[in-house]
Amino acid sequence: MTSSDTQSLDFRSDTVTQPDEAMRRAMASAEVGDNVLDGDPTIRALEERAAGVLGMPAALWTPSGTMANLIALSVHLERGDRFLAPRGAHVLMNELGSAAWLAGGMPDPLEHDAGPGRPSPEAVAAAIGARGGPYFTLRTTLLCLENTHNASGGSVIPPHEHAQLLSTARQAGLRVHLDGARIWHAAAALGLPPAALTVGVDTVSACFSKGLGAPVGSVVAGSASFVERARRMRQMLGGGVRQGGVLAAAALVALDRIGDLAEDHEKARKLSTGLAELGWEVNTPETNIVLARVADLAVTLDSLGALGILASTLGGKVRFVTHRDLSMAGVEEALRRIKAGGHP
Ligand SMILES: *Cc1c(COP(=O)(O)O)cnc(C)c1O
Repeated sequence: MTSSDTQSLDFRSDTVTQPDEAMRRAMASAEVGDNVLDGDPTIRALEERAAGVLGMPAALWTPSGTMANLIALSVHLERGDRFLAPRGAHVLMNELGSAAWLAGGMPDPLEHDAGPGRPSPEAVAAAIGARGGPYFTLRTTLLCLENTHNASGGSVIPPHEHAQLLSTARQAGLRVHLDGARIWHAAAALGLPPAALTVGVDTVSACFSKGLGAPVGSVVAGSASFVERARRMRQMLGGGVRQGGVLAAAALVALDRIGDLAEDHEKARKLSTGLAELGWEVNTPETNIVLARVADLAVTLDSLGALGILASTLGGKVRFVTHRDLSMAGVEEALRRIKAGGHP
């Protein structure tokens, strides 16, 4: 047996990557300080650089993307407010309802009537409805977008659609938060800088641990006054860390790797095409996520597991995510094993 016969191929997420040598070296030699007391120079450097990359005035490091979203929604929402987000959005489905029970907003899902992961401006306008109303009605105050949209297979909102959604929200006086956990992937797919995809938003969150290889860390970015409030909220949530520069150093290395994501997208296309040739019902991935509809989810995951292929599930489908620790050869090997195994 060669090593590739036994090697486990991990498609569960682009968060399973291990920090490589260069990243570990940067972490080991990071200049650090107490970021709760009076600041950590490497966290400060990361926040400045991330704000620039995202095209925002200021940014705040957070331990996770979930905390970044919760901080933004807590600052934007008051109890009795309604917020809109595309159906299946991470803030609706994967954050245990904290947008409602901590940030205080009533979630209202938007249909994807413009394409996978993409509500139309008309859908947004209809969901906002008439403004005003008696004191006992919800006030719709926030639109929360997601680019790329995870549950729709990493689908991308292009800049012209983003601009239309923004203008619809603005006309109705809504604020806009962008969940950009994988905004790097959207940018890479479009061949644009990430800042081209945040135009006009109040706040944006982004993850260094999604595809870019960092072990930990996200940011939430917005105006300087937003970041001031966000910093207090992060402290309330227990997200103030001390010598966090060790982690920020990894994220600084991660930011050099946005250009590498095109390869991960190529791997996802390879996997999707290969699976389709074997009779699987799959999406054509725009970025690094392949979703497959199968007859029996549990049976398929077991069969894949027996072949040494790890996948996850999302919305009743099998989810394969390509990433930097899984080579094109690994993708080809997975396809060979599935073909030999006679699946789906
Ligand atoms: C992963 C993800 C998050 C949250 O990130 P964590 O760091 O895992 O908390 C938020 N939004 C989207 C769309 C994600 O995919």
